[in-house]
Amino acid sequence: MSLKTRKGFIFVISGPSGSGKTTIAKRLLTQPRLKGRIIKPVSFTTRPKRPGEKQGKDYCFVSAREFDRLLKEKKILEHTRYLGYDYGTPRDSVERVINKGQHAVFCLDLSGAAFIKKAYPDRAITIFVKPPSLDVAKKRILLRSNKTPPEEVYRRMRVAGEELRSAGSYDYCLVNDNLNKVIKEAKEIVRWAIYQ
Ligand code: 5GP
Repeated sequence: MSLKTRKGFIFVISGPSGSGKTTIAKRLLTQPRLKGRIIKPVSFTTRPKRPGEKQGKDYCFVSAREFDRLLKEKKILEHTRYLGYDYGTPRDSVERVINKGQHAVFCLDLSGAAFIKKAYPDRAITIFVKPPSLDVAKKRILLRSNKTPPEEVYRRMRVAGEELRSAGSYDYCLVNDNLNKVIKEAKEIVRWAIYQ
């Protein structure tokens, strides 16, 4: 099979809130050798926009009613509920990207990562990102927005504990104790898959 017709890979990055997974995914998109070849499809969510987030760039922010409609119309491949809000992967995003020979990077929770791995066992590569400690993760959440209500920080930290116990089921597990180091490691995983 020529390189042109080869299907792309799906990189799924998971990790607790404050692990830095979104930053890592975004930085992969701008790597000179990967630019244009790796795409980050935008999930739907019913959660409110955080300061600095952009509609259609960070998420496609929709109402609960709209999310239900998308589900009924089978426009969502997999979905999850996280702290009272819905999140869903657009159905056409995976096939469209990998069939073109491009690669996709998603930030999904545990159930999303398990779904993609099962649906695309040959194409999916799962990466779990751990914060160096829960305390550091908490500080990062607070830095992200000082408007995050304390009860949400508490709930995110409680989920983080559960998420950390699942790290072993991923293909790779990285510790984000240094952003440049962990981005370099993520880049190596991506390059190794693409150029093998
Ligand atoms: P956040 O509110 O921090 O942006 O996202 C909460 C959690 O939902 C994170 O673990 C994030 O990776 C996950 N997530 C975001 N979009 C999706 C999606 O489309 N499907 C699944 N399964 N998880 C998602």
